[in-house]
Amino acid sequence: MMRRTPLKPGTKPMKQGGFARAARIEDREVSKIKTKAAREKKHKCAVRTCRAEFVRLAPFVTWCSPECGTVLAMAKLEKQRQATAAAERKNHREQLIKLRTKRDYVKLAQVAFNAYIRARDAHLPCICCDRTSEKQYLTGTNWDCGHYRSTGSAPHLRFHEDNAHRQLTVCNRYGAGRAVDYRIGLIARIGLARVEALERDQEPRHYTVDQLIALTAHYKKKLKELKAAAA
Ligand SMILES: [Zn+2]
Ligand SMILES: [Zn+2]
Repeated sequence: MMRRTPLKPGTKPMKQGGFARAARIEDREVSKIKTKAAREKKHKCAVRTCRAEFVRLAPFVTWCSPECGTVLAMAKLEKQRQATAAAERKNHREQLIKLRTKRDYVKLAQVAFNAYIRARDAHLPCICCDRTSEKQYLTGTNWDCGHYRSTGSAPHLRFHEDNAHRQLTVCNRYGAGRAVDYRIGLIARIGLARVEALERDQEPRHYTVDQLIALTAHYKKKLKELKAAAA
């Protein structure tokens, strides 16, 4: 036989519907501020330019007035907007990385390698003409990383440190590399044996994308170390 449990004295039977539910939630919120002292406790407004003291109407209220509430809401919206924009930029960047070809990775590695070579030789004159500066250009980079055997005719030596030296832009780009003078400068710098080894070198180098990424990181690190040592 089933028997109904009698209600405790003072307990009202549960009302049904949305209104009753809302009332219960409100009761719960208000009961979080338990004591009178806690209810009257002063809080500082979360708006930095305001910081007025106020008594909270509910535990989640951090603003002293509707105006300050608006300021906080707008700030939150702006933060969300910025987060969305940043996520979009990141997504775009990732898409571009996905679309990179092996040729792009070769280019990136070449940029890192060339930057390192220019820094490595920063204290040395031009490999082919011994000049230390070129006054005819007022802006832009005056210095290139010049390859003795060019990346076009000897692509397997594009990342060979003996094959690349800092060279004035005028010599590298507009003097056809000045191969004969380059050779003289190169012998003075690394010796005839290494120059001849370079000239004989026909061993093909094939790089995977992972190796190219590693090569880029390697030369970026070497450049960083050079700069740290110079500072
Ligand atoms: Zn305020
Ligand atoms: Zn030169």
